[in-house]
Amino acid sequence: MTTSVHQFLCLTDNYGVLVHDSKTGATAAVDAPEAGPILAALDEKGWKLTDLLITHHHADHIQGAPELKARFPELTIVGPAKEVARIPGLDTLVGEGDTVRVGSLEARVIETPGHTTGHVAYYFEEDEFVFCGDTLFSLGCGRAFEAPYAVLWSSLLKLAALPAETQVYCGHEYTEANARFALTIESGNAILRDRAEHVAALRAEKRPTLPTTIGLELAANPFLRAEEPPVKAAVGMPDADPEDVFAEIRSRKDRFKG
Ligand code: ZN
Ligand code: FE
Repeated sequence: MTTSVHQFLCLTDNYGVLVHDSKTGATAAVDAPEAGPILAALDEKGWKLTDLLITHHHADHIQGAPELKARFPELTIVGPAKEVARIPGLDTLVGEGDTVRVGSLEARVIETPGHTTGHVAYYFEEDEFVFCGDTLFSLGCGRAFEAPYAVLWSSLLKLAALPAETQVYCGHEYTEANARFALTIESGNAILRDRAEHVAALRAEKRPTLPTTIGLELAANPFLRAEEPPVKAAVGMPDADPEDVFAEIRSRKDRFKG
């Protein structure tokens, strides 16, 4: 195994993550919530930052970039072409289907608009993990800030179609609050109830609930389950299209005070 992934907390509930290729020594950070913890993690591992892969333009995903670039002048900053005007300092612009290289590792870019209009995910197919920023969370999904709910739904379907065993790294540790909402939709889902219990135990010890997997999310995340009869019934829309069911669940979550 030449690939290592190291995940750590930034700010209050953002995750920073480093992907290291021991074959070439290349190391990528995915998003830059703040430079301090990323530099500390690099130090701890003895890794040198070569690439920064940005998922979207929100400040809590990019604001550490200038300090990282100052520390590593050779750093290549990769980000969505569709958000170039809103992300300072991008060196490489990417879109759907592009390949991003980190040393000998390869990631495929998946455009996942909805949370923001140009949001992208980075899928390391061979290594079986995906970095999906603020599109998919465990037991939840991002808010549809910049597009209609249906756009976010199509993006989630793209992620849902990845192999079940794919490890999913998300931008935030929101799982415990997401579980409280998810149980209001599907209280009878045994896999969701198990996951909620496990998550509560992990969080009681301040341990991360991520990465998750596509398989677990398909079984427990109501936002990926808008086609499932029990979910449709739970929101009183047994005959509706899944995208409308998704929109109803997302708007309930927007109003949820959990
Ligand atoms: Zn965001
Ligand atoms: Fe965020």
